[in-house]
Amino acid sequence: MALLGPPGCGKGTQGAALRERFGSAHVSTGELLRAAVKDGSELGLAAAAVMAEGKLVPDDLVLGLVEEQLNGHGRDNYLLDGFPRTLAQASAFDTASDSGSYELDHVVALDVPEAELVRRLCGRRSCVDCGRSYHLEFRPPSREAVCDACEGTLEQRADDVEESVRARLGIYRDQTAPLLGFYGEKGILNKIDGTGNPSEVTARILEALGG
Ligand SMILES: [Zn+2]
Repeated sequence: MALLGPPGCGKGTQGAALRERFGSAHVSTGELLRAAVKDGSELGLAAAAVMAEGKLVPDDLVLGLVEEQLNGHGRDNYLLDGFPRTLAQASAFDTASDSGSYELDHVVALDVPEAELVRRLCGRRSCVDCGRSYHLEFRPPSREAVCDACEGTLEQRADDVEESVRARLGIYRDQTAPLLGFYGEKGILNKIDGTGNPSEVTARILEALGG
């Protein structure tokens, strides 16, 4: 299974719920890249060199890591996280999985209106001292800009400023819209309404997957 969705759609929360429900292996490209770099594997060293230049890791490298993970562990029950991100990745994975035992059965795409994503992301704050997270609307601190736990200052990540949020959402939309068409044509796409509370969203996903 692969879980797709824009920043702020609740993908992390839903991914954890689905892995628990189905006992799936978590295949996160972010984690795989960090681990490969740390292990100093051939792919990891190549990835580290690209990242050191501040560039995006190329599709074939990312695909190599995912394949290595799935083949190496004989995984047939897995949840892809952060992959595929582009049509090129989806298409390469499709070709590769034809010869492996890890073909995708389901792609779940969480759908949340942009205005709601902006509201969710722009309201996030975290304590500079203890890291505790808040949300101006959904989990406000009792005193403005002050941490309830340690009285540290609350800050907004530069990534969560509205201009950056809109840019991130634009990039996601440009890269991912073609993926939805690709998986739609293969007949394995489930578009799920990602609004409302997390347990409602989980219930919608499980219903779409047939239990
Ligand atoms: Zn704090």
